[in-house]
Amino acid sequence: MTDERDRARVIVVGAGLSGLVAARTLADGDPPIDVTVFDKGRSPGGRLATRRIGAATLDHGAQFFTVRGDALGAQVERWRAAGLVDVWCHGFDDDGDGHPRFVATAGMSSLAKDLAAGLDVRCDHMVFGVRRGGDDGDRTRRWRVVIDDGREHAADAVVLTCPLPQTFSLLFEAGVDVPTELFGDDYDRTIALLAVLDGPSGVPEPGGLQAHRLDGTPWSFVGDNRAKGVSRVPAVTFHAAPAWSEAQWDEPAEVVHRRLLDAAAPFLGGSRVVESQVKRWRFATPRNPWPEPYWADPTGTLVLAGDAFRGPKMEGAHDSGRAAAAHLRSVLVGGSE
Ligand SMILES: Cc1cc2nc3c(=O)[nH]c(=O)nc-3n(C[C@H](O)[C@H](O)[C@H](O)COP(=O)(O)OP(=O)(O)OC[C@H]3O[C@@H](n4cnc5c(N)ncnc54)[C@H](O)[C@@H]3O)c2cc1C
Repeated sequence: MTDERDRARVIVVGAGLSGLVAARTLADGDPPIDVTVFDKGRSPGGRLATRRIGAATLDHGAQFFTVRGDALGAQVERWRAAGLVDVWCHGFDDDGDGHPRFVATAGMSSLAKDLAAGLDVRCDHMVFGVRRGGDDGDRTRRWRVVIDDGREHAADAVVLTCPLPQTFSLLFEAGVDVPTELFGDDYDRTIALLAVLDGPSGVPEPGGLQAHRLDGTPWSFVGDNRAKGVSRVPAVTFHAAPAWSEAQWDEPAEVVHRRLLDAAAPFLGGSRVVESQVKRWRFATPRNPWPEPYWADPTGTLVLAGDAFRGPKMEGAHDSGRAAAAHLRSVLVGGSE
């Protein structure tokens, strides 16, 4: 039996989908690898985010997801068997493309909570930086991760899954040469309006509107959380398109809120907004995802992962997390990726 001190230890920064999938894959494999996940947020999920306003439940980051590959497909089967995931629809146009749009029945953040169960996930822990080298009792480990309380945690490997601009600031003292093309990537912004209504919304079946059906409005997506089976009471999430969001970003908060409510009016079906909130996603969507599923430094033990690496969606984040974990397992304990 392996002495716990001899086990490989990995620190994952970020408890979004990619970080949790990486941690889960490392911890559940054979041999198990010790993993600690740090996240600055109050709860796991990152852009899988669900807010409760009174009796209403609203997803305000990712709204639904599609599955193209086997890896996420297997995970979705497990979630469906556990009653966590269901099919919302097969598209938002009259001639849907046939691919199921999956939703989390208790809100997207419930999927993050499911992945985090039993893992050492420490929320409210902002990582300040990553440094080289560190003693851990009688063993020297390759990396040190510095937390906002000043404490340092030693690890044999680190997976960074924050949006890339945040990742780069953490690497300031690490002396790692990251490709300049990765530095150059920027993210589209999204301003979201969460609106609780006193009656049914005017969003037509199946309760979502996308793309050309929103031409001439600020919106890129409008989703009725009751129609998709997430909210008990009428509650609509409105996502403003990247150009609109960027143009309004520095306007006063109350002005933006008013403009969002005005733009929402045609979708309310005559119902009244009883409560509303605005949420800003500065790093909503990577503009130029890296073609590989992760990036690793020459030692193989500092790994960058997340949706900036496979594609700006949940499946990309999921697959990036899995690929990063497979790579680290091969580096730390041998075997093929
Ligand atoms: C508005 C919006 C709508 C979307 N709609 C869809 C959709 O309909 N379908 C779809 O498939 N995808 C959608 N997406 C994309 C999807 O949500 C993401 O691709 C996916 O959730 C990204 O996961 P991730 O793990 O890569 O990153 P994140 O979820 O961003 O996780 C990164 C984590 O790192 C943490 N972190 C950052 N800095 C630090 C630090 N210094 N210390 C500690 N922790 C830190 C953050 O708190 C966060 O939890 C949407 C995203 C947004 C924002």
